[in-house]
Amino acid sequence: RERYEVREHDVLIIGAGGAGLRAAVSATQRGLSVGIVTKSLLGKAHTVMAEGGMAAALGNVDPDDSWRQHFMDTMKSGKFINNWRMAEIHAKESPDRVYELEQWGALFNRTPEGKISQRPFGGHTYRRLAHVGDRTGLELIRTMQEKALATDAKVYMETTVTKLLKNNGRVVGALAYTRESGKFVHFKAKAVVMATGGWGRIFKVTSNSWEGTGDGVVLSYDAGADLVDMEMMQFHPTGMVWPPGVRGLLVTEGVRGEGGLLRNSEGKRYMENYDPQKMELSTRDVVARANYTEVQEGRGSEHGGVYLDITHLGYEGIMKKLPTMYEQFKNLADIDISREPMEVFPTVHYTMGGVKVDPETCESSVPGLFAAGEVAGGLHGANRLGGNSLSDLLVFGRRAGEGAAEYVQQSTHSTEIEEQELLTEIGRVLEPLEKRGDGESPYLIQQELQVAMMEHANLMRDGDSLQEGLGKILALKDRLPRVSVPGSRLFNPGWHTAQDVRYLVQISEIILRTALERKERRGAQWRLDYDGPDEELGGINFIVSKDEQGEVGIERREIPPMPEHLAKLVEEEKAKA
Ligand code: FAD
Repeated sequence: RERYEVREHDVLIIGAGGAGLRAAVSATQRGLSVGIVTKSLLGKAHTVMAEGGMAAALGNVDPDDSWRQHFMDTMKSGKFINNWRMAEIHAKESPDRVYELEQWGALFNRTPEGKISQRPFGGHTYRRLAHVGDRTGLELIRTMQEKALATDAKVYMETTVTKLLKNNGRVVGALAYTRESGKFVHFKAKAVVMATGGWGRIFKVTSNSWEGTGDGVVLSYDAGADLVDMEMMQFHPTGMVWPPGVRGLLVTEGVRGEGGLLRNSEGKRYMENYDPQKMELSTRDVVARANYTEVQEGRGSEHGGVYLDITHLGYEGIMKKLPTMYEQFKNLADIDISREPMEVFPTVHYTMGGVKVDPETCESSVPGLFAAGEVAGGLHGANRLGGNSLSDLLVFGRRAGEGAAEYVQQSTHSTEIEEQELLTEIGRVLEPLEKRGDGESPYLIQQELQVAMMEHANLMRDGDSLQEGLGKILALKDRLPRVSVPGSRLFNPGWHTAQDVRYLVQISEIILRTALERKERRGAQWRLDYDGPDEELGGINFIVSKDEQGEVGIERREIPPMPEHLAKLVEEEKAKA
């Protein structure tokens, strides 16, 4: 009989990016025992890759900035389907999270007077992004990691969760395996915080690392949680295009923030045709479509992108403000960006949708399950503003940690579950190894899925193509039970991929189905078979949950009206326009 270890904590946090680490700090501050599980090493995660900065209305550079304007910018960019309460909390609390990070040791770039410096970014009315050169995520994760390790939280590295466990309708732990040895671990916990990040790896060209397979959103969905805005995937306007091996690697929006200009093969600054007021600093959905359209219409660069020029900063300026970009292009493409322009094209970057949560506590629709960071949905609506993710992680990571702690302190429920449930799950996870390589390759399924999503769910979509994509994904779903891998449990990447493809297929199906339902053009959801936004859908979120037959259920849910103080801000903004 398969043996497994048992570990017990008050709060189990799945994910060690910014959201998970911030949640851990909050929960330990309440005196609770906390376990943090990460499928990679501590200090990795997408958070470490963040470059441009963290948005917060500090008003250090532009004193007129305020939480009100940050709220409005976030709502406008999200095309008003955002959860307005999350947008309000985020705008009000992100300055405190920046100062807290500074107190805990983060070294931000400074203004000449010594204040935390703030750079402009697309869609932000004022200069708002606190940053550390173009290595902001590295500084954030370094600081949060030290802070979390100074607590009593126990970290389980290279440990992958495969299932959330429930007792009496509540989430009471998770089953995981260690990637090195394939040993199973039963984590018992009174509450679980999901902080597993996004799912950019459902596309072939993406800025995301191998970790972005969306495990947490499917684990939550399987446990009965509601998801929201799943059709909304962000395409970042500027990924590398050349050489082919690095296609999709991010070129930070910080480049445009520092004055970078976009030009087509005719040398024209074409953003004047798409957003003459904001030009290169328009929102990501608009700039991504502009770059795509220029290439589609035959005005692309040599390798199928457009040109992004930052040469005006000169070598010294670039090394001060964008050193990573300089090294990235020099090392990977042998291009000196202080002398020649970069070639860029849209790349899949971020997932606006995710687990639907209560804005105050981050609790999902399943008791005992909390979610924060990129895996959660609602704050960003139809399009995220650059810089609003790092602030999201800390604002809602903190709230999730506190929400989970509060829930644990108020409840006395049992964390026991039937042993048979664990054994069945262990059997399911081991299945691909037991078939001894005599079946479907998980790599092939992953590859076919990424190609299908590129073709059918890209930044311009239409009903027929989405439907065709859905057919392809459902065919892959049928092949999943036959997935098999050779080798043993020891250091076996094929076995890990066999777990990942289940998530990739499920998420892709959900995205295609919800993209078929939202029949309009709104933010990242750009349906070519509709002319523009649909007024009625402007008040609707699509909520996804698993129905009784285990299929994807989609419900149209009306967005509740804003309270008066927020509605007034929207009215004032409209009057300004
Ligand atoms: P992540 O940092 O992705 O962490 C997820 C964690 O979950 C990891 O520890 C992972 O190992 C773990 N995990 C996943 N699945 C499992 C599982 N099954 N079992 C156990 N553990 C699991 N945003 C900004 O605001 N500003 C920027 O300048 C910026 N730049 C970016 C640049 C790049 C290249 C990228 C990719 C993103 C950028 N973003 C930026 C977005 C931002 O970095 C991410 O949205 C954010 O870091 C996500 O943080 P998170 O804590 O939610 O998840």
